[in-house]
Amino acid sequence: MAVLDKLTSQEAIELENKYGAHNYHPLPVVLSRGEGVYVWDVEGKKYYDFLSAYSAVNQGHCHPKIVDAMTNQAKTLSLTSRAFYNDMLGRYEKFATEYFGFDKLLPMNTGAEAVETALKIARKWAYEVKGIDENKAQIIVCENNFHGRTTTIISFSNDPIARKNFGPYTKGFLKIEYDNLQELQETLESSNNIAAFLVEPIQGEAGVFVPSEGYLAAAKKMCEDHNVLFIADEVQTGIARTGRLLATCGNCSCPEKNCSGTPEVKPDVLILGKALSGGAYPVSAVLANDSVMNVIRPGNHGSTFGGNPIAAAVAMAALEVVADEKLAINADKLGKIFRAELTEFCKTTDLVSFVRGSGLLNAILINDTEDSSTAWDICIKLRDNGLLAKPTHGNIIRFAPPLVMTEEQLMDCISIIKKTISEF
Ligand SMILES: *Cc1c(COP(=O)(O)O)cnc(C)c1O
Repeated sequence: MAVLDKLTSQEAIELENKYGAHNYHPLPVVLSRGEGVYVWDVEGKKYYDFLSAYSAVNQGHCHPKIVDAMTNQAKTLSLTSRAFYNDMLGRYEKFATEYFGFDKLLPMNTGAEAVETALKIARKWAYEVKGIDENKAQIIVCENNFHGRTTTIISFSNDPIARKNFGPYTKGFLKIEYDNLQELQETLESSNNIAAFLVEPIQGEAGVFVPSEGYLAAAKKMCEDHNVLFIADEVQTGIARTGRLLATCGNCSCPEKNCSGTPEVKPDVLILGKALSGGAYPVSAVLANDSVMNVIRPGNHGSTFGGNPIAAAVAMAALEVVADEKLAINADKLGKIFRAELTEFCKTTDLVSFVRGSGLLNAILINDTEDSSTAWDICIKLRDNGLLAKPTHGNIIRFAPPLVMTEEQLMDCISIIKKTISEF
C-alpha cells in the first residue's frame, strides 16, 4: 500500500491500533478535512466539531489568515533555535505582552511544557526573591486538576490512571480542594515555604467545574497577602473560550478589544497554549512581569523549538483573529443561548441532570453512574447525527465548538443534541 493511498475509516483505525501506542481511546471517526466549525471524515461525511481539539481550534479549522501566516513563514524561515536571534520572535513577544498586559513572555510549544516552565519560574522566584531555603519550596495545587502529562505534573494529579506506576513522584506540592477558600487560607498559613498557587480558572478536564463567583479574586488576594504567586493555567480556558479573553478577566462585555483593561484577577504568572495557535501549530507561553520573569537567566531554561519563527507568526495571526472577529463576545452570546436551551431541555428528560459552563466551554452531566457507558453511547449517536463530542470522566460530556460558530449553526447543533438524547 502506497503511503498516500486513500484509506477507509476502518483501515485508518486498524493502522493506529496495530502501529500506534494505545495511549488514547478515540471515538471511532476518522477525520481528513476541516473548515471553520466543520470536519469531514474520510468517507466524506460532514460533522460539527464540538470538541475543537480540547479548545485548541477556537478560531475554527484551517482559518485562512492563520494558514497564510504559517505557510508564508514556513517558506521564509522555520527554525533558527535560540542560539541566534530571529526577526519574528521579538515582534511576537511585543505583540502578545501588550495584548495580555504583561512585561515579558517565555515561549514554549506545548501546554505541559508551559506549566513546567511556570513551576520552575515560581521555585526560582521563591528562592531568589522571597528567600525560601533551598529545596523547601511548596506549590499549592487543586484536587482533580489537569495540567498535562509530564512526570512532575502527574506527580500532583489525583487521577489514578494518569499516575499509577509512573513514580517515584516529584515532591513539593500540596493539594487542596478546588473552590475551597478556607482550605487555601489554612494552607497558606500553615507554612512560610509556599511559592505559588497553581489553579485552573475553570477545571476543564475534570468536567467543566466552574468555581463559585469571586473565588479567583479572593484566592488571588490571599496569595498576595502571603507573598505567594498566583499562577493561572489558562491553557484550556484562555483565548476567548469562556466568553472573555481570559477566564480570569471580569465579566465585561468586550466592546473594544476582548476585555483588556478589566481583569477580575490579574495572575502573577499566566500559562497559555492550545488556541494560542488556533490549533495550527504547537505554541504555548508563560507570561509574567519583570519582578518574576527576571529570575530566568541564560541557560536556566529553554527549548529548541520554543519561539521559532513559524510559531511567532502563527500566534500573532491567531490572536488577531480573536480580536478582529470578536470571538469572546460571540462565545459569551452563544454560550448563554446554549445553556438556556439545554437547561430547559433538562426539565423534559431524566437522562441529563444539568448543564454548566461559561462561554462556549460547557458540559452536561448524564444521569447515570460514572462507569456506565451511557455518555459514550450518546457520543456515538451524536456522531451518527453529525456532531462530534467526547465524554470526560465517564458520565460528563463536554461541549466546546469553535468560537467562529454562528447563532444559526448553534441552533442546528442544539436540535441535534436534543434529538439524539431524546432517542435514548
Ligand atoms: C490541555 C491542557 C494542558 C496540557 O497541554 P498539552 O499541550 O496537551 O501539553 C495543561 N493545562 C490545561 C488546563 C489543559 O487543558
